[in-house]
Amino acid sequence: MNTRRARIISPGRPGVGPVVYWMHRDHRVRDNWALTYAALLAHQAGTTLVCAHCLAPSYPLAQPGHFRFLYDGLREIARDLAAQGIPHIQLLGDPPAEVSGLARSLDASAVVADFDPLRHKRSWMARAGEALACPLHEVDARNVVPCFVASDKQEYMARTIRPKIHRLLPEFLEDFPELPRQDGPSFPALPGRTWDEAEQAFPALLAPLPRFFAPGETAGRAALSRFVRVGLPGYAQSRNDPSIEGQSGLSPWLHFGMLSAQRAALAVASSDAAAQDKEAFLEELIVRRELSDNFCLHSRNYDSADCYPDWAKKTLDKHARDPRPYLYSPSELEEGRTHDPAWNAAQREMTLTGKMHGYMRMYWAKKLLEWTPCREEAQAVAVDLNDRLSLDGRDPNGYAGIAWAIGGVHDRPWSERTIFGQVRSMTFAGLKRKFDVEGYIRRVEAVFGM
Ligand code: FAD
Repeated sequence: MNTRRARIISPGRPGVGPVVYWMHRDHRVRDNWALTYAALLAHQAGTTLVCAHCLAPSYPLAQPGHFRFLYDGLREIARDLAAQGIPHIQLLGDPPAEVSGLARSLDASAVVADFDPLRHKRSWMARAGEALACPLHEVDARNVVPCFVASDKQEYMARTIRPKIHRLLPEFLEDFPELPRQDGPSFPALPGRTWDEAEQAFPALLAPLPRFFAPGETAGRAALSRFVRVGLPGYAQSRNDPSIEGQSGLSPWLHFGMLSAQRAALAVASSDAAAQDKEAFLEELIVRRELSDNFCLHSRNYDSADCYPDWAKKTLDKHARDPRPYLYSPSELEEGRTHDPAWNAAQREMTLTGKMHGYMRMYWAKKLLEWTPCREEAQAVAVDLNDRLSLDGRDPNGYAGIAWAIGGVHDRPWSERTIFGQVRSMTFAGLKRKFDVEGYIRRVEAVFGM
């Protein structure tokens, strides 16, 4: 494999035990560069590979439904790993402390972790790096072009990162090797929790499953095949029409790493769909998505109103005292009780299904700027609702999307309006010109049982 996908977080001294793959973002067995790299290190060191995952009950803004979705995915992973001869060790608690404790107890040769740019994950890596005696590596298995290879600075907008990514695609958009079966010695008594012990210690794992998305790697791959077959033809047009099912619906699996974006890119690129549909999808899946990781890696305040560009802060401050005809409390917003039926439908779509249509997400976040007292509150409400209620929330795409909608991140100044200043605004009348708004509201009612 291309080892530019990996980098060393802390050097350390290799022990004589197994390589530990610390899975915490890319929850899958197939198409996983971090797992492939860990297997390679184990092979080179003449040792075995074990996979460890630590459920973190205090994960920021995660809800019982998120834990259940992840947990069912993990049980499938443990079965698939066992078929490959790789033990899965389930931990529960504070991930860096648990994983470094495990690595010490096994005298690990190395720990290989998933790359993730989010603040709490960077802190996990720093703490694990300090606590581990052995080397700690991380591998970007989420992006086609590794985030730390694509660019070493915060990119201004899609236009600036696109050529960098496109230049590197021939090097990184390659097929995945088969993961070889591990026939090494078995481990008689590995630490970790049984599923029963984990459920007893953390009952959120038994919360009801989300109704509209089935968890796990198999379900994610099935959704991809369905999309390539029936959703991709016409995607370039249909993705921006919330009154029909025009998007792929893949974001929950992509967010949990149950589906590899690179696998999706390869499937779409090799399909016989029209070039414009393939290009439109690959632009979202690769360029926009990888821009979000770049944003979160390089902007420390990616989830607060401090991350907006100076021009946007200035123009929003200038309009901070503009009269706001409607102001809603966080609970009125969460319950979808505004004067705007399209916004209410979008909010309910998210609450009921765990996912809002992408076009409505833009409108939804922009309206929060109009209907809350200031940009700081709009930003905080948007992050809180999106992260708690969306299955694909707590993701760099969400932080970049909200910062784009409210704070002009990755955008440019537009003509000046009330409240928004030069940040691009969206209106109900604009929605009506773009698509059948009544059709969208009816679809939410009919399909999702509003
Ligand atoms: P498709 O159109 O089928 O796209 C396929 C994949 O491409 C998506 O799953 C996603 O991984 C990626 N993608 C598509 N659009 C974008 C985009 N604009 N930016 C980055 N990646 C993109 N996406 C999330 O994954 N989680 C979030 O919490 C999230 N919150 C958002 C909040 C706001 C305010 C906005 C404006 C956007 C947000 N997005 C978020 C980005 C985008 O709306 C979703 O990725 C998309 O709607 C997911 O549905 P899909 O998989 O059917 O998309």
